Amino acid sequence: MNIILLGPPGAGKGTQARFLVEERGMVQLSTGDMLRAAKDSGTEMGQIVADVMARGALVTDEIVIGLIREQLETVQSNGFIFDGFPRTLAQADALSDLLTEKGQTLDAVIEMEVDDEALVARIVARSTCGGCGEVYNDNTKPIPADGKCTNCGKENEFKRRADDNEESLKTRLMEYYKKTSPLIGYYYAKGQLTKVNGLGEIVDVKAAIAGVLDT
Ligand code: AMP
Repeated sequence: MNIILLGPPGAGKGTQARFLVEERGMVQLSTGDMLRAAKDSGTEMGQIVADVMARGALVTDEIVIGLIREQLETVQSNGFIFDGFPRTLAQADALSDLLTEKGQTLDAVIEMEVDDEALVARIVARSTCGGCGEVYNDNTKPIPADGKCTNCGKENEFKRRADDNEESLKTRLMEYYKKTSPLIGYYYAKGQLTKVNGLGEIVDVKAAIAGVLDT
């Protein structure tokens, strides 16, 4: 079963994708993670995208479609979670073509609904463990006093994303509403969209997603 997790920055897509990987053996394809890895390893593409990402703007369709194509050509699974992709209608069309070429289908698009104020509050306070990706929040789930990740035990590996600041976030939200939110109507019209409330407790969101996958 191949699915898309759709939602604005901070909706909890990455957190929920991790559960699906751990518990269902699905394969997470996060274009944001791929682009950050390219940036950190200093590849030519990484250098091109670094500034665009820091500003919170979208990287070109050509680059991200290329990244997803490469993964779909090399990784064998029929349980892909597309996280942060597609973000434009052109990317959505390309994904449909790529899956068709592979003889696969897109089985569900899960829209994680959250309100904008909650997003801003989540993002500016967010940090993650570099070891396992566990997400912390300065207000609701602070980094443990002993500096050890509660999930993997690694010490002092906590990171804040360079684009998790109010300035970039404004651009990221604007990009979402201008270019990504039309995908809600696109997948609704295709009969593939299911909405879940992304504002609840993590376990409740997880249960809502399981409900979609298991029906
Ligand atoms: P994310 O980790 O999904 O929030 O992505 C971080 C940043 O990477 C975004 O703000 C964009 O600059 C870039 N990015 C990630 N995925 C895409 C995509 N599908 N299309 C364009 N840009 C992307």
